[in-house]
Amino acid sequence: MLWDPPKCINCDKEIEKNEQVYAKLRYPKRKGFTEIKAYLRNEAVFICENCFDNKK
Ligand SMILES: [Zn+2]
Repeated sequence: MLWDPPKCINCDKEIEKNEQVYAKLRYPKRKGFTEIKAYLRNEAVFICENCFDNKK
């Protein structure tokens, strides 16, 4: 992958490969994800599993 590893918006930890994450993003206006990676990089924020569990 060419883009930087995503970081958790809460604890700033880098998301590790294969780690389960929660992503928050806007649903695209247009149908179809032609460039899912670019879309995620521009629009998504990630929350690691730890932080997500702590928020419950
Ligand atoms: Zn976190």
